[in-house]
Amino acid sequence: MKILSVNAGSSSLKFTMIELPEEKVMISGTFEKIGLDDSFYTIKYNGNKDKKEAKLESHTDAVKILLEELINYKVIKSYDEIDGVGHRIVHGGDKYTESVIIDESVLKTVEELTPLAPLHNPANLVGIRSFMEVLPDTKMVAVFDTAFHQTMPKEEYLYALPYDWYKNYGVRRYGFHGTSHRYIATKMNELLGEDRKIISCHIGNGASICAIKDGKSIATSMGFTPIAGVIMGTRCGDIDVGLLPYVMSQTKEKFDEVMNDLNKKSGVLGLTGVSSDMRDVEEGYNNKDERCITALNMYANKVAEYISMYNTKLEGADAIVFTAGVGENSDLMRSLIIKRLSFMGIKLDEEKNSQRGIDGEISSDDSTIKVYVIPTDEELMIAKDTYNLINE
Ligand code: AMP
Repeated sequence: MKILSVNAGSSSLKFTMIELPEEKVMISGTFEKIGLDDSFYTIKYNGNKDKKEAKLESHTDAVKILLEELINYKVIKSYDEIDGVGHRIVHGGDKYTESVIIDESVLKTVEELTPLAPLHNPANLVGIRSFMEVLPDTKMVAVFDTAFHQTMPKEEYLYALPYDWYKNYGVRRYGFHGTSHRYIATKMNELLGEDRKIISCHIGNGASICAIKDGKSIATSMGFTPIAGVIMGTRCGDIDVGLLPYVMSQTKEKFDEVMNDLNKKSGVLGLTGVSSDMRDVEEGYNNKDERCITALNMYANKVAEYISMYNTKLEGADAIVFTAGVGENSDLMRSLIIKRLSFMGIKLDEEKNSQRGIDGEISSDDSTIKVYVIPTDEELMIAKDTYNLINE
């Protein structure tokens, strides 16, 4: 079966077509700057990457071109060869604990959840509606970033705030990156067997840590929004909210301006003033730039703190897994993090750790907790959910 896995943002649309059950990626691409004058798209096919300019006034334009390109690249002969479309949805609130077939009631609920994810859910909905317009008879599935974390116990997802805020307004920890953490849980299940205790570190531009027990999320570092937890590319992670009125009084910024600073100008970018990209900051670190050194140390401290905390919650983890852009590619960051845990007997095999493109165990034979690098694959997870649901 040919399944499209789709991730629609406010001005972008990413897709991957995957053949299932073979799990073979057939073609993928990204449409960018939708609605702007300089919109374009890139297609990856057979190891080649083609960049093309196109006037993309709306997501529907992007979807129409996407489908035409599938035929041009001879991936399909006609649209009815597309068996299903899986859509990434950022927020499922506490309504969705797993992926679902999209119908009018799902669309309505996702729309109602917009106040919880005002930037993401509307963009995801635009993506779904565009596909529905062009492929009205194709089955579509919604895969939620929050769903995997719905197994967290109440004591984990409540904040110590007035209880009415939770009851009346849904103020609680939701957690994100659920599809990626679920992928790691599934992979580790295959590698180590069932009923294991895993600490999954999804550290990319956005970053979150998740404690997984028996394949289920029991704690995660992101919260009501994706700003919480560890230090990220441009997001601050955990901070003292008491500083907000002070900053506003000093900078004369409005609340949404300060929120923009916390989301887009903080984290590694804010600390270094250099970049949000770990590669640039590592270059600064190697050149002894003091702010880059401090930033990387703070980043590693924070991830190590969460690993220690989750090791306690899990009463002893079986494995720590690194994934996403930084986790998969930065041997320096993995090494800085694990060094902070060496007092617990957690140790890397530095030779394995320094291998490029590693996929597997990187801990030393005598490490008390195994450490792995597992490349995440959210697109495959979305496609598999779609495949499973449309075959039910
Ligand atoms: P993601 O959000 O998972 O796509 O991760 C993107 C981030 O991964 C980039 O912003 C970089 O900070 C980081 N990254 C990618 N490649 C490398 C690399 N070779 N070394 C260090 N960091 C990397």
